Amino acid sequence: MFDGLSQKLSGILDSLTRRGALSEDDVNTALREVRRALLEADVALEVVRSFTDRVRSRAVGAEVVKSVTPGQMVVKIVHDELVAMLGSEAEVIDLNTAPPVAILMVGLQGSGKTTTTAKIAKRLTDKSKSKVLLASLDTRRPAAMEQLAVLGKQVGVDTLPIVAGQSAVQIAKRAHEAAKLGGYDVIMLDTAGRVTVDEALMTEVAEVKAATNPHEILLVADALTGQDAVNTARAFDDRLGVTGIVLTRMDGDARGGAALSMRAVTGKPVKLVGTGEKIDALEEFHPARVANRILGMGDIVSLVEKAAENIDHEKAQRMAEKMRKGKFDLEDLRDQLIQMERIGGIGGLMGMLPGVAKAKAQMANANIGENVLKRMAAAIDSMTPKERRNPEILKASRKKRIAAGSGTKVEEINKLLKMHRQMADVMKMMGRNKRGGIGGMLGNMF
Ligand code: GDP
Repeated sequence: MFDGLSQKLSGILDSLTRRGALSEDDVNTALREVRRALLEADVALEVVRSFTDRVRSRAVGAEVVKSVTPGQMVVKIVHDELVAMLGSEAEVIDLNTAPPVAILMVGLQGSGKTTTTAKIAKRLTDKSKSKVLLASLDTRRPAAMEQLAVLGKQVGVDTLPIVAGQSAVQIAKRAHEAAKLGGYDVIMLDTAGRVTVDEALMTEVAEVKAATNPHEILLVADALTGQDAVNTARAFDDRLGVTGIVLTRMDGDARGGAALSMRAVTGKPVKLVGTGEKIDALEEFHPARVANRILGMGDIVSLVEKAAENIDHEKAQRMAEKMRKGKFDLEDLRDQLIQMERIGGIGGLMGMLPGVAKAKAQMANANIGENVLKRMAAAIDSMTPKERRNPEILKASRKKRIAAGSGTKVEEINKLLKMHRQMADVMKMMGRNKRGGIGGMLGNMF
């Protein structure tokens, strides 16, 4: 269903010959396609809504960087938002606590919980060299206990001996004792499943949770059930507070809707995906790869990234040239202010620099906020080209005119000029240092 979404988006928008910023109409046309693709893929409606809203607010007004088309630009923005929705990075199972680490496996019957428990046990044994003990808490279905024992043997992982007549909590406690005595690193508790979410099931799992204090509670959900999987996840998370989700049967899921909705709805990361019946058919969940697969065109993303890099590069070169000549006028300052805005204002910019906390405090003291950037740029816009190139000619009457023209105050113009003088000094220094860009500049200022 997602096939060709990026081709469609490019197709729609590349017919636009007009360049420059993306207009609201352009973006809305593209978003209709995105919305349709997401709904066809069975993504929850609320998720589709908030997703398209986010893309719209980022895309409208975005400059189309030179050498890419408007369509490519939108594909890149959609991609970035998809990654943000899926979670930016692959999240792994957390074993970072005193052993034995308890992992509680929860989910509906038939979701692939037992198989996944064995898959994860094998993975932890192979990759983390952990000594794992498996225990089935499914007291109602002896077959399920047997199944786990068989799978355990198959992957070479120990299972807790089956003792008839014990409750789930008793088995869990026995597993904990056995793990401590046997020097196990990890205990995986495979809880009983039910066909649907019901109160008895939830109560039992909650009791096991209280008795075992698990470090991870992994919900296993069948991706093929789409919206139902999402609702199940919500129910388990509300009651138990899961720490992560494992989506099974991703091998059969052409639609991908569950994967897309899961994190948005529960706020919990998809940590692993099951991709087949075989015991090693378990993969880490990489948001960027999934987003690429959905868009079906990873190269556009890197193309736009490269084009953006080039633009900065060109600008940086021009700036370096000016610095070499010892020039940094108000036009350049305006360019830099706009760049700062783009990076996400002072806040976004500072997040990218070392020594952030200190610098932020200084910025706050100096009262340089987001709005100030805009006001400064407006003031520069109200100057004549001659004034921008020769700030020294700005005397009281000119300052008054500029302040009136840009809705600022003379005091602010004075601050702006002072900032420009300081920056020009830094620029001269940088010309010698060969450090380019606003990052280097701020690095020198603080
Ligand atoms: P449980 O009732 O939740 O414990 O489910 P099981 O672990 O018994 O799995 C039910 C069926 O789903 C078994 O036949 C598994 O082999 C199969 N299964 C589990 N995970 C996957 C997967 O990722 N892909 C596919 N195709 N089948 C799976």
